[in-house]
Amino acid sequence: MRVNIHMKIKYFNLSTEKLEIRGKSIDNISYQVGSTPFYLYDRSIIAHKVDLLKSKLSKNISLHYAIKANPMPALVCFLSRIVDGFDVASSGELKVALDSGMSSSKISFAGPGKTQEELSQAIAAEVLINVESPNEMYRIFELSKKINVRPRIGLRINPHFEMKSSGMKMGGGAKPFGIDSESIPELINKMDSLGLSIEGLHLYPGSQSLNAEIIAQTQNQSIDFILGLKKYFKSPLKIINIGGGFGIPYFENEEELNLDLVIPNLNHLSEKIKNNFPEAEIVLELGRYLVGESGIYISRIIDKKISRGKTFLILDGGMNHHLAASGNLGQVIKKNFPIHIASRLQSKDKERVSVVGPLCTPLDQFATDIEIETCEVGDLVAVFQSGAYGLTSSPQDFLSHARIKEVLL
Ligand SMILES: *Cc1c(COP(=O)(O)O)cnc(C)c1O
Repeated sequence: MRVNIHMKIKYFNLSTEKLEIRGKSIDNISYQVGSTPFYLYDRSIIAHKVDLLKSKLSKNISLHYAIKANPMPALVCFLSRIVDGFDVASSGELKVALDSGMSSSKISFAGPGKTQEELSQAIAAEVLINVESPNEMYRIFELSKKINVRPRIGLRINPHFEMKSSGMKMGGGAKPFGIDSESIPELINKMDSLGLSIEGLHLYPGSQSLNAEIIAQTQNQSIDFILGLKKYFKSPLKIINIGGGFGIPYFENEEELNLDLVIPNLNHLSEKIKNNFPEAEIVLELGRYLVGESGIYISRIIDKKISRGKTFLILDGGMNHHLAASGNLGQVIKKNFPIHIASRLQSKDKERVSVVGPLCTPLDQFATDIEIETCEVGDLVAVFQSGAYGLTSSPQDFLSHARIKEVLL
């Protein structure tokens, strides 16, 4: 029996000779795209992840997509029909969100350094602005007088606790994100004196967590904190965004997040919120979890060379397109994303290689000393788990190679 060393690939079938996506062989798809390298995203996997969550989530809870994870317009358009709202963090993402047809009432805008233009756009578009500092609140107040539109304001809170063992901590302690929880009552009073009302609250403690208990614990702390603020609000809260942080497995020994430990807890919390804030919509905000497993980065082997006994596969794309898989996006210890020779999945012959990109820097490595299907120049290589923080977080202009394509299948 063939041992699949990459147990993380749950949604693609690796038992065919050549990788097939939605009934098409990878060769056919690469002709259709026209050139390598490229990213492909399988919309049926995205739909499956959304369905999976919706089948478990209480009707009280809305599911939002954080566009930061993958802003490809066609993908966002697809998601606009199956999720309840979008979260954006720049004017560019706001445009993609509005273009998709998502109602502006279902869009929220967070981010620590919003410019005057971005704030004006958000006020005029009537999206919810999650305010990240007292200064930003005053700027919104001034701009809204000029634009003559009542701003929709949420407060992003930097809680006094953090999400332990998350891939990225975005709350707790001193942070550029959100307003320190202890300053919230004072800010609410200031807003009252300006005649501004608060429509929503936003907490985002962390990202990329696979630990259900820690996510549940963080959600409990978030809700307790929000309930403690109840006495300060003069008008009913309409939106309570409790963040997300659901991770996906990338590396050996990582297990997928157990939704059956996270979601029942969340459903229970949503009852608590409803009892205290009957008009509030509760929002779960996810990026990576919805799209990360739908994507594959495909590139072609340009050269195969042996240097002092070690074999290198040199691809036609690398960290310029996929910084995360090269280990240079916030990874402390270099680990390998799941990777296969897409056209030789059943090959019994294996060889030990390092897989590198075409850039003149030792940082441009996808995998070091791995065992992979024996291959030749011209074969296609697939890097899995690449649907989130792929092209969007990569330095595409580094080394000035041609821009690459993305396809939604
Ligand atoms: C980055 C970010 C997200 C998305 O995080 P994922 O790990 O992709 O789910 C959601 N909300 C905010 C405020 C973010 O900064």
